[in-house]
Amino acid sequence: MTCYYQGCTSKGTTKEHIPPKAFFPEGERDQLLTVRSCPHHNNAKSNDDLYVLAHICMNASPSNRAREVWEAKVVPQLSFNGDKFREMLAAGAKPNSDGVKYPVNKRRFDDFFTALSCGLIYKSQKSPLPTSYRIGHIYHAFTSDADPAVQLLEAAIGAFYSGPPIDSFDFGKPNLQNERIYTAEIFGHAGFGGHITIAHCFFGTFKVTSMLSKF
Ligand SMILES: [Zn+2]
Repeated sequence: MTCYYQGCTSKGTTKEHIPPKAFFPEGERDQLLTVRSCPHHNNAKSNDDLYVLAHICMNASPSNRAREVWEAKVVPQLSFNGDKFREMLAAGAKPNSDGVKYPVNKRRFDDFFTALSCGLIYKSQKSPLPTSYRIGHIYHAFTSDADPAVQLLEAAIGAFYSGPPIDSFDFGKPNLQNERIYTAEIFGHAGFGGHITIAHCFFGTFKVTSMLSKF
C-alpha cells in the first residue's frame, strides 16, 4: 500500500493518525482514523502538530475545551528542553489592543493542513488526492474582515460549496458546551470530478478552509 500523501509513491510502512493524536486528551483517541504513511511524511508532520495546536488553542480562547486541551496537551511541553517551545511561541510577540499578538509561521500551518487534508481525502475517497490538484488554505482567524481581498476570497469560497457535504467527520466528545475538538466537512464531487473544499473547525470556533483546486 502506498503512502497517503498526495503524489508520494513510497510504501506506507508506518501508521499515521488523522487528525493527530497530539490534539486529543486521553480517552478521546479511540475514534481517530489512521492512514498508511511513509516514514518521511509521518515524521515531517509530527513536528508541526504541537506548534499548530498551541496557536489554535490561543486563538480559540475563551472556549472551555480549548483551555482544557491547552492545559492537558500544550502546557506540559512548554518548559520541556529548557523552555525551548515557550520561547519559540513567544518569539516576535507584540502587545496590541487585544492583549498580545503572536506571530504565526504560515508555512508550518500550510504543511499541517495539507497533510490533514490529504489524510481526510484518502479516508473519504479510498484513494490519495491526484497530483492534478493544487492545495491552498484560508485561516479565518488570521485574516482581517476589513481587508477587501479577504472579503472577495471569502465570497469566492461560496462557489466551491455546492450542495450538502460529500463526507463529514467529528472528533472529540462534545462537553456541556457541545464543542467538539475538531470537525471537518468535505464539499465537492466524489471521485475527483472537480474542485474540493474542506471546512475544518476546531473547538467550534477556529475555522480553516482548504481549497483543493483541480487543474
Ligand atoms: Zn509519503
